Amino acid sequence: GVNILWLRRDLRLSDHAALIAAAEQGAVIPIYILDDETPKHRKMGAASRWWLHHSLSSLDADLRKLGSRLILRRGNVTDILPELAAQTGATSVHCIRHYEPWWRNAEKMLAEKINLVRHHGNYLMPMGSIKTGSGGEYKIYTPFWKALAQYMPPAEPLSAPTFLNSPETWPESDKLEDWNLLPSRPDWAGGMRDMWQGDRECGIGEHGAAQRLHEFFDYADKYDEQRNFPSITGTSFLSPHLHFGEISAAQAWHGAMSAGGSVGTFLKELVWREYAQNIICQYPGYGRKNARENFDNFPWRDLNDEDVQADLSAWKQGKTGYPIVDAGMRELWATGWMHNRVRMITASFLIKHLLIDWRVGEQWFWDTLVDADYASNAINWQWTAGSGVDSNMFVRIMAPLAQSEKFNTRDYIRKWVPELSHLDNPHIHDPEEYGVKPANYPGKIIGHKEARARALAAYAQIKG
Ligand code: FAD
Repeated sequence: GVNILWLRRDLRLSDHAALIAAAEQGAVIPIYILDDETPKHRKMGAASRWWLHHSLSSLDADLRKLGSRLILRRGNVTDILPELAAQTGATSVHCIRHYEPWWRNAEKMLAEKINLVRHHGNYLMPMGSIKTGSGGEYKIYTPFWKALAQYMPPAEPLSAPTFLNSPETWPESDKLEDWNLLPSRPDWAGGMRDMWQGDRECGIGEHGAAQRLHEFFDYADKYDEQRNFPSITGTSFLSPHLHFGEISAAQAWHGAMSAGGSVGTFLKELVWREYAQNIICQYPGYGRKNARENFDNFPWRDLNDEDVQADLSAWKQGKTGYPIVDAGMRELWATGWMHNRVRMITASFLIKHLLIDWRVGEQWFWDTLVDADYASNAINWQWTAGSGVDSNMFVRIMAPLAQSEKFNTRDYIRKWVPELSHLDNPHIHDPEEYGVKPANYPGKIIGHKEARARALAAYAQIKG
């Protein structure tokens, strides 16, 4: 018989249970559907679309080596899949289970129309399988991690098939180029190409992901020491590859274990990804809705106000006058990625120094990150705001300049804020304070002490 393999954020051929199951049953029609309707206001952002283009192109090339190909369609999955199944006489549609609220709804609707077979595969453990002793849900990271750790290591990753049977006739496919996922004018993707493709043969896609993991092994033993220092290549850079499923979490886990060294902290980070998704399963609206309801009354500054718009633009463009914040925001704009420590600093700055609603920042990250992930983005923004289930306290206000010195961000600032590249420690962290601010670098849009006092006063209004 013929089977459809419905691909989403699982753009790989190895460790793919749905692919293996479909292949065992006969001919396989692999399909990717660009669906901007089902996710509603969560349609994929611009940076993610850029990544998707390259990932799909790589996957199609890999499928062709197996005698197969990738069919592309655009539209609502709940229309397209049943139509395609009827047209091709497919007996089943195999997919890997996805947990974004819109995918869960779509899977439910599809299961009523077609023989949808859902497989585990994007996370270390199927969501819902890690329960407390009394059968409840975990809301806090540490106990969740301890419970999950008991099931580790995950099963050995599955190998990719060496050949796939084709249907007698291939259904029609769109052309990837016609989807216009890449920017045309202006072409803002130059920095993204440099960072993710550069001189690599296979930067994006399954081979690129494997190569990243391999490169990470060279310094994985220092991950624990170096991961907080944005000037150093200390983290794995796997996030977009994991988000698009070019590598499975189980493959990353096994890879890291076999690399040895002190990979414990890295494995814990992988579990943050699981934890985030687990929270979204409990609170599907987490990307917009404060988990702590008192935050619904938080006196955020009004976005209709011109001053607030100006502050927001300064933040987006990296012109706040705080070098570490500006370096981070410019790195994000240029490469579609930002170091985790700097994500924390820039997010905290928007929320606490500028008193702008965390959801505004969450949306900007959604549009500009190549690893934009509904779950990971939402839990980290709510954590920073103090509005989440397992949150930092609002009153712990990060001091960006002190953070910058502590994590020795000099070289990072030099790279992303070239106006300051002639400055050294300690001046580079706060050129205004030291009286060395060049004329072409903005002054601070708000002083730290003043911002801190304003944030605490705002918080006092919703306390208790
Ligand atoms: P590594 O340090 O090598 O970690 C390995 C993997 O673990 C990552 O690839 C990622 O999948 C996972 N991971 C690490 N830290 C976290 C974390 N705090 N939360 C969830 N998963 C984690 N990560 C995203 O993947 N998508 C997002 O949209 C996203 N938005 C964020 C927004 C804010 C405000 C903050 C503070 C963090 C956000 N993160 C997000 C988490 C984290 O910053 C990135 O996962 C990390 O920087 C990716 O780099 P890496 O792959 O080199 O990480």
